[in-house]
Parts: sequence; structure tokens; C-alpha cells
Amino acid sequence: MNLDIKLHKNDLPDDVKLGNVIAVDGEFMGLDLRRDPLCLIQLSSGNNDAHIIQLDRTNYKAPNLIKLMKNESITKIFHYGRADIAHIKYYLKTDTNNILDTKIASKLARSYSDNHSLKNLIKEFLNVDISKQFQNSDFGGNLTPAQLKYCANDVIYLHKIHEELKKILVRENRIELYEKCLKFLKTRVELDLALFKDDIWSH
Ligand code: MN
Repeated sequence: MNLDIKLHKNDLPDDVKLGNVIAVDGEFMGLDLRRDPLCLIQLSSGNNDAHIIQLDRTNYKAPNLIKLMKNESITKIFHYGRADIAHIKYYLKTDTNNILDTKIASKLARSYSDNHSLKNLIKEFLNVDISKQFQNSDFGGNLTPAQLKYCANDVIYLHKIHEELKKILVRENRIELYEKCLKFLKTRVELDLALFKDDIWSH
């Protein structure tokens, strides 16, 4: 498979059009929202392309990317969007609208499994083994070709995976529940940003 990987500095260029359904992922310096800044946003149109945007961490000026995240008529597919959307809201100062999420879809659709990692979903639905070797690597500086490939892998399969999960959700009558969970995702992110980390429904 021929992968088209493009690295952009600071923002998505004006002339890049990715269609109405875009896969999105982010890389941070770590998992603590306030401590660990957002470094990269990766986007894919689902046609073996990856646009990797290396943000300017001194000002996070990325008007095209922010417009895209905000745009209600463009769908964004995440895998565990909870972390990405919180980082996007905190660092890019924008809401992300019109969200799908393959991890939530997988948890509802694949109750036969307790592994909902992206690697596992790529294996199940595309029969591809991807390396997660660079999951924990320094995304703050210059990126190696291996890191770029890793970042691309996190977005190029999401369209296909979501399509397959959706079929199961429809078949098992769980699609409405999925849609309701997606509606709550923004609130879950707001709870995270307000430091309510635990499950507020638990006793
Ligand atoms: Mn990633």
C-alpha cells in the first residue's frame, strides 16, 4: 500500500481539502493534559493519505485547523477522542464538533472482546499488524521517518474500522446507544478539564 504522508508546519495549508469525513488523532508529550502539551495533529481523508501538522507550541496559531475542528458539517473520526478533544480544547482553544469514535464504537459493538486498542482493531478488520513501538516517543522535536509512519498509522485505518463497527452496531441494535454516548463525549471532556477524572456515576 502506498502511503502519502505530508508534514506541515504550524497549520493545515489553505489548499488541502480532505472531504467531509476526516480521521483525526493527536500526539502529546504525555497523558497529563496540563503538563503535557499537544505536539501534533494528524488528519486523513481515508484514502491512504496522512497530513501531520506540527503545531507551534509557543502560540498554537492554526486558524485552518481550528476552523476544521469547529466545523459542524465535517465529521471527525477519533480513536479515544476523549484525550485528543481535551488537548485540542485546552491548547487550540476550540470545541471539536461532529465526532465519531472507534473506541466507544468498539466497546459497544465488540462485547465479545476486552481489547479495544487501535492495534487490535486494525488486526481484526484489516488483518494488518502495525507496530506501536513509537507510541511512547518524543514527539516534541524533529520527527524521524519511523515516527511519521507511526503517526500516519493512527489515522489511515479509522474510516474502514468505523464502517465495520457501525455494521455490528446496527445489526445488534446498539447504534442509538452509540449515538447517545457520542453526545455525552463533549461533557466527558469538560469533566476531565474540570478535573473530575473518576466515573461520576459510580457509588
Ligand atoms: Mn496517536
